[in-house]
Parts: sequence; C-alpha cells; structure tokens
Amino acid sequence: MTTTTETADTSATGARPDSLDVVPHWIAGAAFPGSSTRTGDVFDPALGTVTKRVALADDADVAAAVGAATAAFPAWRDLSLARRQAVMFRFRELLDARKGELAEIITSEHGKVLSDALGEISRGQEVVEFATGLAHHLKGEFSENVSTGVDVYSLRQPLGVVGVISPFNFPAMVPMWFFPIAIAAGNTVVLKPSEKDPSAAVWIGELFREAGLPDGVFNVLQGDKVAVDGLLEHPEVRSISFVGSTPIAQYIYETAAKHGKRVQALGGAKNHMLVLPDADLDLVADSAVNAGFGSAGERCMAISVVVAVEPVADALIDRVKQRIAGLTIGDGRRSCDMGPLVTRQHRDKVASYIDIALADGADVVVDGRDVHPDGDPDGFWLGPTLIDRVPTSSRVYTEEIFGPVLSVVRVASYEEGVALINAGEFGNGTAIFTNDGGAARRFQNEVQVGMIGVNVPIPVPVATFSFGGWGQSLFGDTKAHGAEGVKFFTQQKAVTARWLDPSHGGVDLGFPQN
Ligand code: NAD
Repeated sequence: MTTTTETADTSATGARPDSLDVVPHWIAGAAFPGSSTRTGDVFDPALGTVTKRVALADDADVAAAVGAATAAFPAWRDLSLARRQAVMFRFRELLDARKGELAEIITSEHGKVLSDALGEISRGQEVVEFATGLAHHLKGEFSENVSTGVDVYSLRQPLGVVGVISPFNFPAMVPMWFFPIAIAAGNTVVLKPSEKDPSAAVWIGELFREAGLPDGVFNVLQGDKVAVDGLLEHPEVRSISFVGSTPIAQYIYETAAKHGKRVQALGGAKNHMLVLPDADLDLVADSAVNAGFGSAGERCMAISVVVAVEPVADALIDRVKQRIAGLTIGDGRRSCDMGPLVTRQHRDKVASYIDIALADGADVVVDGRDVHPDGDPDGFWLGPTLIDRVPTSSRVYTEEIFGPVLSVVRVASYEEGVALINAGEFGNGTAIFTNDGGAARRFQNEVQVGMIGVNVPIPVPVATFSFGGWGQSLFGDTKAHGAEGVKFFTQQKAVTARWLDPSHGGVDLGFPQN
C-alpha cells in the first residue's frame, strides 16, 4: 500500500523523533500527501504502539479532493451504465482475490481478528455485487397515455459529488455500504474514513485504479473534524452518508441539512436480546457470546444487553460463563477468538464501566480486567465481561459502551421485556430467542427497532435489503444499501411528453387536465 515518509515531526499529538510512514489521501487516482502539516497517530492495538501516522486534511486538501471529484463527474455520469457496471465487476473480482491483504491491514490498525476482518470484507463485497446489477434498479417508470396523446416517465440520475464519512469499527464494510451504489449510479465519491484506521480506504483506492475506474471518481480524504466540516460546507458536495456515534450523527444531520444537502446519518446503538423461557438456552448462550464479544464488542449490531425473562437467567448465565472461559484473547494475527480494543483511551473508558457497575450494585460475574492475552503486554486488552442484575438506571445500561461488556437484566414477562426495549433511546437492532412463533411474530410487530432478529443475534440485512435503525440510531429517512441506497444516491426526474398530432392545438389558459 502507498505511504509517504514524513521528514519533519508534525504530529498533532506531540513530538516524536522518528520518521513513521504517513498514510496519505487518495485523490484523482493517486496518493496525495496534502498541504496540511497536521498528522494523527495510528496504533497497532495488539502491540500498543504507534506504527504510522495519518495526514489530517486542511481546507486546501478538502478543496483538492472535492475538486477532483467534481472534475471527474461529467464524464463518469455520461459513461454508459454497462461500462460503469463493468468496472464494478472488475473491482469485485480483484477484491475477492486479494481480500487477505485488506484483512491484514484492518487487523493491524483496528485489532479485530483476521477471520472477523475477512467477514466484514465479505459483507461489504455483497454491496459491490449488488452494484454490479444496478441497471435493474435504475430502471424508471413509464405510463402511456395519461392524458390524450401524453406519456409520463421517470428517470433516476446521479447527484454529483457525494461524501461518505465512516467510523473506526468497520473500515472496509461501512464505506462499502455506500460507495459501490453511489459510483455505479454515476456519482463521484469523497470518502473520509476514521483517522484511527485510515489505510483500508487507500488500499481500496488503489484497487479501483487497477479495476479501471477513471481518476477522481473515488477519492479518500484523510482527517478529523476539519475534513468533515469541509465536506459538510462545500457547495459541490451534494449528499452526506455518515456512520458513527449518535452525538456526531446528529451534528452531521443538522449541519449537512443547513447547507442544503441530502443526508443519512447512522448513529450509535444499545442492542437488546430478549430471551423467553422456552428458548434453546445453548443456542442463546452461543449467540450471546458471539454477538456480545465478537470484534471485542465494537460492532454497532453487537448485543450489549441480554433481557432474560425469568426463570431463565441463572441457567443462561452459567452457560455464558462456561463459554467465556473457553475464549482466547490475543493478537488478531494469532488465531485468537477476540482481539484488543482500538485505542488505550477507548479500552480504559470501556473498563471504567466495570467500576460503575460495581458502584451501582450490579453483580460482575466475569471481570475482563483479569485477562491473560496471547499478545504483547502493551496491547489494549480487555477480556469479555459479564455483568448480571444491571440496574436500568445505571450508566452501564443507559450508555453505549462499545466494548466486550455484556449486561444481563432480569424481567418477569415478555411484556416487561418489550417495554424495556421500547423505552431505550436507540433503535438499531434487537433479537428475540424463543421457540414460540406467535411470540416472535408479536415481537416483530411491537418492538420499536429498525432491524430485528428471530433466533438470529446480529440481524444485519443482506445487501439487497437496507440497513439502518430507528430512533437515535438513524437521522434522516433513508437507510444504507438495497433499494433505499439506490434512492439516496439518485434524484428522480419526471418527464411529461407529447408528440403533437395534427388534431391537437389551440389556445387554452386552463390548468392542464386529463
Ligand atoms: P465517531 O462518531 O467518533 O466518528 C465517526 C466519524 O466522525 C469519523 O470519521 C470521525 O473522524 C468523525 N468525527 C468524530 N468526531 C467528530 C466531530 N466532532 N465533528 C465532525 N466529525 C467527527 O464514531 P467512532 O468512534 O469512529 O465509531 C463508533 C460509533 O459508530 C459507535 O457509536 C457505533 O455504534 C457507531 N456505528 C454505528 C453504525 C450503524 O450502522 N448505526 C455502524 C458502525 C458504527
């Protein structure tokens, strides 16, 4: 992957006498060092050390990225749909053949285990595959003879330059929720990845160049709030697709709207799993462990609260405890089950919730601070943590923790469980575990959440459907990928056409009627 070597110490986070590689921007089909002298640290979380730096854009860098995308737009828009799709086919083949390289990059900057990194690439690849068939979804409507001799039809056309701003936890998959559809539909893209794991985006830029994408159609702008604000305010940027925490999602939604942009902003989550007494407890325990601790709990669809309808809690907790004891924690390159957290700061924040739980009278069944990792002692380690009897007034319950901390709340009935879920501010994902089809059907009808699993703990819809939550988990009315993604990245035109025949004509000042 392309990097440039820094010669002066320009770190935003303090002096360091070294010459680490700086992850560059990717603009107009090439690595672009940018004019900003600010950089951010990029860690290898399993080693606990800074291994690279990342360029942090200034206003001139924003202008360069948007300028490249603006210049590329007319020719890309006018290229036939078949040719645009052909690029996506080539990109898909290259990605499939070389995804191991991308997984290694993700693991080295995010920390998740290699198999999980490959998993996120596969889910992103699904959207690329969806985009290879975009011609089907871009078909317009046609009504013949709506008035005498008059036909009406609709067209879907690209917006222009679109901005994508992504979080640290899925450096490949989340950008891929958006850019394949945006590009296949004829838009040009500026992606602002998380500054915590910026290299995957540049690797994707290189792959697109190899796939034959014209320069400037896909650009990567590295940076922080300066880059984000630059995109939000730039008049050439027609839309913003954001994924990240709720406070920033709300800021993005409001600011982008103020600047006249179309915006979809996906926020945080606190996903509950409702367990009914008739559920298969071994399946539930497997699912809770997989969904609670996979990717160290740094997934927006992670299960963070098990809502156990009594009398199942004791038996379930025993099973979960047994499974936690069998998990290996360590360097994601060493075939462990769970890797480190993304930064020391984040690890410490997540660990602080264990003290809050103790102070609030909860029962810490497994304390992840007692972890013995298969990895460097300086890595950002926190083992799986299980907390029972979490009071719903505790910050452990009310806040998104975004780490390997699984809470258990005990309730007396299905109704109490659903009421608890519906009282939450987030509405991203939820799941019910039961063998009662009637209860599951009632749950999917009553629960106020955007994505629901029935005996499926992480109900991420496949690419042909759309991904997004309700409540504070999504600002805007359009979800990611599927039909809603196509709608977001295109604007509709309605054409009313009459080809005159000699029998029509004459002056008529009335409003057109049929
Ligand atoms: P974050 O909100 O800190 O950052 C997301 C993006 O916003 C990054 O690109 C970052 O550079 C930028 N950003 C951060 N602070 C900003 C500011 N003050 N002004 C402008 N831009 C700013 O989120 P994160 O920590 O990278 O990711 C974790 C969060 O993302 C969690 O809350 C998680 O639930 C959420 N998430 C949600 C979904 C979903 O589908 N709803 C998916 C993945 C992650």
